[in-house]
Amino acid sequence: MGRVSGKMALVTGGAQGLGEATAKMLAREGAKVTVTDINGEGASKVAADINAAHGEGTAFAWQHDVTDAEQWQTVLKAAHDAMGGLNVLVNNAGIGSLGSVEDEEYETFRHVQNVDVDSIFHGCKYAIPLMRAHGLGSIINISSIAGIVASGNYVAYNTAKAAVRHMSKSIALHCAKTGGQIRCNSVHPVFINTPILDRTKEMFGEEEALAKLGRQIPLGKVGEPDDIAYAVLYLASDESKLVTGIELKVDGGISA
Ligand code: NAD
Repeated sequence: MGRVSGKMALVTGGAQGLGEATAKMLAREGAKVTVTDINGEGASKVAADINAAHGEGTAFAWQHDVTDAEQWQTVLKAAHDAMGGLNVLVNNAGIGSLGSVEDEEYETFRHVQNVDVDSIFHGCKYAIPLMRAHGLGSIINISSIAGIVASGNYVAYNTAKAAVRHMSKSIALHCAKTGGQIRCNSVHPVFINTPILDRTKEMFGEEEALAKLGRQIPLGKVGEPDDIAYAVLYLASDESKLVTGIELKVDGGISA
């Protein structure tokens, strides 16, 4: 028996990085998984890897832009029908932008809010009724340590990830009041070695970039995607059935 046997999960932004690691971890621990991404080919490849490892029908894939509310409804219904239900939603898709309030273009600021924040509003709005039909659900929103500790250089990202943190608590309380066992929590990673760090690696070279970021973390090193996948696995499983409205920091002590 895996830790999430019988669960049916949808992971957004699952074509690479944390989403890919999470989808693979959930499948390894017994869940059916729907992988979605704006990069549909990447999502299909991850689903194919999962099916090769755990058997056909374990994973499904859809091309999905999380900023599109209509697409959310279509994809959620398709995932629900393919898997036979939906009780885990991992809102992982997200983008960053490196700009201070004086440097950042307003359009970029809005776009980051749209991808990182509005997407989660749409996803939860349409996923909760599907979860409620089966009486059980866990929503896991991937925020960032940047949603807790601010930096002058990431105005759009700081704003978005702080909004995700607080929106998750609001959703948790709403779900707790409105029946069923539907939980909602946010996860706050520190720097994790995924393609999101490519720009920093281009600027400093891979080794120096990882060392530079690692020096900022009390535990001394940049994380690996599975460090976050394990946190998601716990929140997706019934091991966390009394846990809702928390902000789970996976941050090597940087916010301590
Ligand atoms: P990544 O860039 O490697 O992967 C993000 C995925 O999201 C990509 O596959 C991309 O195609 C997809 N995506 C982007 N825009 C989309 C859209 N509009 N619709 C659907 N999919 C879209 O990033 P990652 O490092 O795996 O990050 C995943 C999440 O974790 C993000 O929300 C990010 O903000 C957060 N995070 C990452 C780190 C880190 O250091 N890696 C730290 C803190 C938080």
